[in-house]
Amino acid sequence: MKKITITCAGGALSVTGSNFLVEGFDKTFLVDCGLEQGSQMAEETNWQPFSYNPQEVDILFVTHAHLDHIGKIPKLVFDGFQGKIISTPATRDIARVMLEDTVSILGSSESGKEFNLDKIYNEKILHKVFALWETVDYHEKYTVCSGLSLEMYDAGHILGSAMFVFEYNKQAFVFTGDLGNSPSPLLRDTETLPSNTKYILMESVYGDRNHEERSIRRDVLKRVLLENIEREGILLVPIFSLERTQEFLYEINEMVEGGEVPRVPVVLDSPLAIRVTEIFYKYKHLFKESVKKDIQEGDDIFKFPGFKETIHTRESKAIDKMPNPKVIMAGSGMSTGGRVIHHEKKYLSHPNTTVLITGFQTPGSLGRVLQDGAKEVTIFEEKVSVHAKIETVRGYSGHKDSDGLLQMIEPIADTLELAIVCMGELSASTHLSQRIHDAYDIKTLVPQPDQKIVLQFDE
Ligand SMILES: [Zn+2]
Repeated sequence: MKKITITCAGGALSVTGSNFLVEGFDKTFLVDCGLEQGSQMAEETNWQPFSYNPQEVDILFVTHAHLDHIGKIPKLVFDGFQGKIISTPATRDIARVMLEDTVSILGSSESGKEFNLDKIYNEKILHKVFALWETVDYHEKYTVCSGLSLEMYDAGHILGSAMFVFEYNKQAFVFTGDLGNSPSPLLRDTETLPSNTKYILMESVYGDRNHEERSIRRDVLKRVLLENIEREGILLVPIFSLERTQEFLYEINEMVEGGEVPRVPVVLDSPLAIRVTEIFYKYKHLFKESVKKDIQEGDDIFKFPGFKETIHTRESKAIDKMPNPKVIMAGSGMSTGGRVIHHEKKYLSHPNTTVLITGFQTPGSLGRVLQDGAKEVTIFEEKVSVHAKIETVRGYSGHKDSDGLLQMIEPIADTLELAIVCMGELSASTHLSQRIHDAYDIKTLVPQPDQKIVLQFDE
């Protein structure tokens, strides 16, 4: 019997901070090294020492390029990690853009000064990070060490996202990373796991909830666009740079070019989202078949009549002079930073403004305050009265809901011996764990932070 240990260094009873240490094979490795994120981009708990010695880790596997899965890689390298970093090529490219953005924010933030983050989040460390980074394609067999192989499956969560399927003596154990809310407008569906899966460590962000409004999300977006055109208003969309931006551009592209919505100026006012969109063009072979067909037929799927990108600050400021109606998409998605705040300061007091909330808003964020119906907000120490209409489009979540997560287990239920439920809050993880147990009579575990789990494999 081969015994290995998984330590939940981050991501147990928490949506963010994914970080799992695997010991017991010839090589010691990590899966993900993410930031803990609450109402801030990075919570102060991130700057404690790692609970393991980064110098003794041989490989870091990265499931996908969201900051709660990659954001602490610079700290790992700063603290002495010298092993390999492995991901899909798309994840590496997106991670570079996301980490460069993080450097520009954390390196100069308030807590940045307090915790000397400028020494960790800088160009020199990023250079070291990407010198260690190697890529492996989906379904390309990778030998981790003697007896242990790896194959990446498409998780359908964001571009490049992968489930890691490790195999030891024909027994598979899986780290899901985050799992996509398939069908996505752009991405392929989450792939079915191999039928020899013995153990799974899975996410559970929505373990206790289903996405009610997935089927009508496109209709809501269309209605809000049409209403804004009719009232000759300003539609302000606080946007998440990675995936949500590209999904929205794809859907607006379809609506405008298909004649469902009249041509209207749409400005993407986010240098980060513009850079991420460029990476999407590079990896168009990873899109789902219907989107690839659109591209083959000659459509530029993210660009349409009336669309404009603004990179420089002066271009951003000039958006104000554009006549109504207009649509402004700007980061950040929860209005916690970025250019969208400047637009909100300018436009929230106008009654012909609509703010379209596009995803989960963390308590304490400006987006959440607006969503909760505040009549006045403070932006850059100035009071701004809110006369704008606040709309929310739900169902664009990038995560599987409770039913979707349960369905992941169906094809592997015969061989599965243990489901470890992580990357969710207590109620979500325990609910999903109970559902899996009840439906398939499989042993489940909701680990505590830093818990060590022993897994056994037949030799
Ligand atoms: Zn994610």
